[in-house]
Amino acid sequence: MQKIQQLSTSQAQKIAAGEVVERPANVVKELLENALDAGATKIAVYITKGGKTSLRVVDNGCGMSPEDARICFNKYATSKITHVDELPTIATFGFRGEALASIAAVSTTTLITKEEESDLGYRIIIADNIIISADAVAANTGTDITVNDIFFTIPARKKFLKSDETETRQIEQLMHAVALTHLNVEFKLYVDGTLRYTCPATDDVAQRYAQLFDHSNADHMLKLHSTDAEVKVHGIISHQRYQRYDRSAIYLFVNRRWIKDLKLMRALMRGYQNVLPPARFPAAVLCVEVDPALLDINMHPRKEEVQFMHPRLVETAVQRAITERLQQVVSNELHKPLAPQPAPHVTTPFVIPVQTTVKQRSFDMPSWSAQPVISVAPRQPYILEPAQPAVETIAYTQQVMTPEASTTTMHSVGTVLAQLYQTYILVEQDDALVLIDQHAAHERILYEQLKTEQASLEPIALLFPLLITLHHGQLALLEPYLEQLKAHGIHAEPFGIDCLHVTALPVLFKDRPIDRCIQEIAAWIAEHQSLATAELTDRLHDAMRQRIACAAAVKAGDTLAQEEMEHLVRTLAHTPQNFCCPHGRPTTWQIPHDTITKRFKRDYRQQEKY
Ligand code: ADP
Ligand code: MG
Repeated sequence: MQKIQQLSTSQAQKIAAGEVVERPANVVKELLENALDAGATKIAVYITKGGKTSLRVVDNGCGMSPEDARICFNKYATSKITHVDELPTIATFGFRGEALASIAAVSTTTLITKEEESDLGYRIIIADNIIISADAVAANTGTDITVNDIFFTIPARKKFLKSDETETRQIEQLMHAVALTHLNVEFKLYVDGTLRYTCPATDDVAQRYAQLFDHSNADHMLKLHSTDAEVKVHGIISHQRYQRYDRSAIYLFVNRRWIKDLKLMRALMRGYQNVLPPARFPAAVLCVEVDPALLDINMHPRKEEVQFMHPRLVETAVQRAITERLQQVVSNELHKPLAPQPAPHVTTPFVIPVQTTVKQRSFDMPSWSAQPVISVAPRQPYILEPAQPAVETIAYTQQVMTPEASTTTMHSVGTVLAQLYQTYILVEQDDALVLIDQHAAHERILYEQLKTEQASLEPIALLFPLLITLHHGQLALLEPYLEQLKAHGIHAEPFGIDCLHVTALPVLFKDRPIDRCIQEIAAWIAEHQSLATAELTDRLHDAMRQRIACAAAVKAGDTLAQEEMEHLVRTLAHTPQNFCCPHGRPTTWQIPHDTITKRFKRDYRQQEKY
């Protein structure tokens, strides 16, 4: 029996369309590229319900004649190449003639277009690839395309579309990418009838960055310009004092094409090696220019990946350009006179749940809104009122000293000697010197307490509620999880389009900045959205615990009093998993006495003191 059937052209076209058009953002991308190819200097984008209900791109480009307008929806209809040999040198975005055909196969599309020399424009309505109407209309020069009801022809795919907010965010990110590489074009974005932004034409990428993002972030951006013989790297990158919790502000371009290339991303991160802490990311608009003949852009249906003929050369050029730029900034700053230091001030005491009362000044760690990390103000020492009298010898677990050992037998092992670099606690043992990372250790202690003691999360109503400004999309991400946040003692509600109004916090947060913690939680949600709801909710509880512990823990740079160090070390000794912090960084490092002795060429066993 014959089993194989030839699919109809219309069915085949819908399948093929799925490769180009996966979600509304892909449609916007294709329409923007067409507008740019048409020489537009002004482009406006309108989206409704994440582009699912409708999306519209209006340009003032060259427009199309009625004849072209009728055939532009045909597959392989393009004005950009006539022969495949032209591919290697093509300077336009489009060339496959697939986009409009694919879009028309999955939606109802209205095209209005007019060339400058024509008096009248032409309007075509096409649904499921069938022309429904075509007539002359009054129109401005340029093209105006509206795509309604995306995927109405393939409901199976429609089901895979994400929430309106997620689809809107994807479109916004795409618009950012396009706007960042076409400075001479004016862009406007309207979301659900409201103007999100206008970017007038400019010749300065930093200015465009400021038009799109928060102005204060723009102050942290450095211009990048390096001309290798074969690879040009330019754009703007963030100063190392500016740190983000995800990669969402990194835009990579190759020959002005926005790409998502893991290797280039890694090369960029290698450029920041040793200047950014783990799991922190920069913001960057990184443009790489290479000879188009040394590049294959055709390997991906949506052209999001590229294949370089000499990938290592490109990666090295990127890494070097960034490292050199950052080094240049650091050397400039080191030669600057130091700014006058503000006088330290002490805030009210608060309780950390290790039965220890601590006084501290508020931290000046970087919040997402990017306080300079470099200008560290002098810190007020912690003042401890210990519950028990200070003891010299600290009970410590075997497990802390040697993570691989399974025993947790308590034995008296050490004396806290001092704080090193306001970051490590030095403990002397009979057989070793132990360095303890104060932040990692405290973080582990708090994290374990949060897991077992609900009391640590008892919320306290704030006398002065906090208003935290989030960036676009973050509020929408957080909103469904506000109840969950509440279970962790953080009471917050949306305020306006991008603010969170925090009315109560767990006691251990008192006087600590919370913005960073909230930003991190939003970033975590963004990164894990592909998880099933139940798993996401489950893992989110733990992610919240980790971030709360991190935010509330003492930081590197905090001066600790002797008693506080002793208390911390003592508590760590009783804490499960005490050899590493919740992120996996070690809490302790043991240098055996033996090793020290050998280093100084002493005999460990000899008792003579000389
Ligand atoms: P491609 O861009 O690969 O050529 P498309 O399907 O995106 O294929 O577009 C088909 C053709 O329609 C283009 O080659 C171009 O001639 C014309 N076209 C599409 N959009 C526009 C526009 N905004 N302005 C002018 N012409 C356009
Ligand atoms: Mg195109």
